[in-house]
Amino acid sequence: MNEYLLEIYNRPNVVNLATNENTNLINSIFDFIVIGSGAGGSVLSKELAEQGAKVALLEEGALPFPWETSAFRSLLKLYRDNGFTGTIGKPMIPIPLGRCVGGTTVINSGTCFRVPQKVLNLWESEFGLIGINNENLQDCFSKVEREIHVEDADWNVMNKSSDFIRKIFTQKNLPCLPLRRNTHNCQGCGMCCYGCTSGAKKSMEISYIPKAIQAGLFLFYNARAKRILLSDGKTAKGVLIDVVHPTTHKVINKVEIKGEKIIVACGTMLSPLLLKRSGIAIDNPNLGAHLTIHPASKISIELEDNISSWVGIPQGCYSTALEDEGIIFEGVAMPPDLGPSAVPFSGNELIHYWKNYKNIATFGFMIKDSNEGSLKFNIKNQPIYSYQLTKTDAQKLKKAITFLAELALDENPIQIFAMVTKQPNIIKSKDDLNIFTKQEHVPSDFECMAFHPLGTCRLADSPEKGVCDSNHRVFGTKNIFVCDGSSIPTSLGVNPQLTIMALATRLAQILKNL
Ligand SMILES: Cc1cc2nc3c(=O)[nH]c(=O)nc-3n(C[C@H](O)[C@H](O)[C@H](O)COP(=O)(O)OP(=O)(O)OC[C@H]3O[C@@H](n4cnc5c(N)ncnc54)[C@H](O)[C@@H]3O)c2cc1C
Repeated sequence: MNEYLLEIYNRPNVVNLATNENTNLINSIFDFIVIGSGAGGSVLSKELAEQGAKVALLEEGALPFPWETSAFRSLLKLYRDNGFTGTIGKPMIPIPLGRCVGGTTVINSGTCFRVPQKVLNLWESEFGLIGINNENLQDCFSKVEREIHVEDADWNVMNKSSDFIRKIFTQKNLPCLPLRRNTHNCQGCGMCCYGCTSGAKKSMEISYIPKAIQAGLFLFYNARAKRILLSDGKTAKGVLIDVVHPTTHKVINKVEIKGEKIIVACGTMLSPLLLKRSGIAIDNPNLGAHLTIHPASKISIELEDNISSWVGIPQGCYSTALEDEGIIFEGVAMPPDLGPSAVPFSGNELIHYWKNYKNIATFGFMIKDSNEGSLKFNIKNQPIYSYQLTKTDAQKLKKAITFLAELALDENPIQIFAMVTKQPNIIKSKDDLNIFTKQEHVPSDFECMAFHPLGTCRLADSPEKGVCDSNHRVFGTKNIFVCDGSSIPTSLGVNPQLTIMALATRLAQILKNL
């Protein structure tokens, strides 16, 4: 943490509720209470604070500083439930989430894409979102890109997996380009997903939140919104907060905070839960439904050389070679204290994988999903998300594996590991690849992860189609809004953080005039 951040996060308007400092601040009436400090909540808070509004930003997690130097320890500190969040179904799909000041942006890879035009067209035709078009969003995207310093990744600091992948794509005249990322002076420490220790990644805790604090924002952390308090069925008057212990996350106190407008920005998996707990929009069938996730997987390629792929930018390049089929390839690499265990192998194969991890190049891919999951409650009334990978989407994952394996085999690797549970899942030759291709695979055979949950409080022109109107206001309420990944109406096919931030910028302009 540099001196500038140290000074900012020690200001009196930054309050650790768990240590009860300055609780008198919470007795004021705020113009806006924003719940959740991720991509949506932080951008909106900063824009509102700079307009002169009195804004309280509530965050369940703690400050992410000081950074951990081990990925494993960062996982325990910065990830919700130590990284064990996800969906129930076939297969079960882990969906990691950040829980700290800055939200999931603190632990993301930094890749930045604008929403594709064809997705905007769909939002207009299917959901009547006429105001959310390229023309209106252009300035919002440009503003966000300036604030978080979006630039092309530098090939000189990419990891060696990326060099290998670039070679196998370009020698077949297939596209392989540097990704755009929110970084400045990135030296490739490889810790993007575990809190960027160098401060090069301009995630929310480094970019938007300090500026918001400078503009007078009140940041309350270790502050989990338990319920939105209503004065009547339609109007919110404040928020009941569970003050949580920074490491055990147990409730240690309760406080109330009052506000004129409440913005829910807890992220796609948690915003519908808070609304449900508060009795808001409970009759709307879209609440908690329409979950899309971009199922993702990877292949690992064992090479002769030591490439230590955890050194350098892990996600620095991508390929649109199969974009028309809804598949995007992107770099992926995990540090040695986590990577070797996240694979579907056992016994000697797993030992071999561990021992030779330094020789393993990985490349990932994600698909624009055709199915939707939804929030449900188990018999103990605990929330769970169900999501079923379709046969069509499973075939897309298989297509991505075989496509990459075929390209990689031209370089005579020692072997290729496919992340499927059904054997054979190790490919050493074209014959092995033929056997793999001909084999029947069902969705539960694929080991997937997902990083982009969207859609559970989606925007639309009517409550029959969505939870919020095009101004992000929850249908049937006067002063309750949602602004995060859950507002995004459909799967994007590209990484979502920039779109969430651009929509938050747009919402700040709308709220100014409401
Ligand atoms: C490993 C990983 C890599 C990723 N890489 C990329 C990438 O390269 N590019 C990209 O575009 N996207 C990436 N993403 C996804 C991206 O980071 C998210 O889409 C984005 O951060 C979502 O923003 P959000 O505002 O919806 O929620 P979040 O950023 O998740 O923020 C929500 C915040 O709300 C807090 N909260 C929840 N409930 C409460 C409550 N009741 N009270 C108070 N606070 C609460 C949470 O603790 C959290 O801090 C990645 C995600 C992961 C996990």
